[in-house]
Amino acid sequence: MIAGNRPINYLRISVTDRCNFRCLYCVPSSPFAVIAHKKIASYEEILRITRLACELGITKVRITGGEPFVRKDIFSFLERLCAIESLKDISITTNGALLTRKKIKKLISLGIKRLNLSLDTLDPAKFARITGRDRFQNVKDAIFTAHELGISPVKINTVILRGINDDEIENMTALTLDYPFHIRFIEYMPMGDTAVKKQQQVLTREIKEKIESRFGKLLPVQRTANDGPAKKYQITGAAGIVGFITPISSHFCSECNRLRLTSRGTLRPCLLNNYEKDILNPLRKGASDDELKQIIVDTLTKKPLFHGLTDPSVKGIPISHMTSIGG
Ligand code: SAM
Ligand code: SF4
Repeated sequence: MIAGNRPINYLRISVTDRCNFRCLYCVPSSPFAVIAHKKIASYEEILRITRLACELGITKVRITGGEPFVRKDIFSFLERLCAIESLKDISITTNGALLTRKKIKKLISLGIKRLNLSLDTLDPAKFARITGRDRFQNVKDAIFTAHELGISPVKINTVILRGINDDEIENMTALTLDYPFHIRFIEYMPMGDTAVKKQQQVLTREIKEKIESRFGKLLPVQRTANDGPAKKYQITGAAGIVGFITPISSHFCSECNRLRLTSRGTLRPCLLNNYEKDILNPLRKGASDDELKQIIVDTLTKKPLFHGLTDPSVKGIPISHMTSIGG
């Protein structure tokens, strides 16, 4: 599948809008409802859509949420997903709080070798303030256990916010000195009414300057197939990598190879654009495989050439929260 000259081979599947955390930058600040269970795509339905998407050229899948590991029977779903032969790469983004050693071993036995874990601070009190939960130790343990068990690379997603954790940039970066982690600083994307104000956004240039003034010049690192939009660097002599994901300061839309499936069964060609196409209800009403494939293809014709978060003239600033789309 091609959308605006971009080959589309990557499907991000959000398996739930529910989460055991309440990250300041992600969940709405006002009371919000979760999606009714019957409106959430079943595993069977997700697998059917995924198989059809694979027939159209999808080879990579990332499972996300909400928090994927809060959904019941997630391992039985992952097992069936991993059995889809044409899928060459399956990875998961998780907050890590529920990832015990036993579960990480199970993931590895299924063939899942890449994990992105989210961690914004090395200070347990700050962690509780950001996530609303006192689970720092669980997440830290999950990160180090994943590393110990051979997950490679362990990628750590970090969102830096002014006045909250902008004093942690160096601490987080220092982890790469001794461990082969990829610490990826993601620019905060204002989506919906979170507790975070736009003025708290810290852009890559500032983060990079802070890192270089402490650790010296960051050396660019050759890109590999699984880098996605991260621009990668390394501190001289470090074991790990520092990555920057810059949706705001330098959008990467021209290279975007993604399609998203939300937990409520809509296809979304762009995270930062409100356009969505329902595929779940046609499926439930008996659509054929060919009809469902046509919905996938039609959705991609609406993939925008760039997003509107930095351009006020572009309509359609995302009103959905990350948890309801899938980050
Ligand atoms: N719950 C899982 C987790 O936290 O890793 C998966 C879903 S979460 C929505 C996926 C990623 O999106 C996380 O790394 C999180 O830090 C990031 N994220 C959430 N809201 C964001 C925002 N407004 N701007 C930038 N990144 C955000
Ligand atoms: Fe949950 Fe992940 Fe959002 Fe935090 S970033 S609230 S862990 S979905």
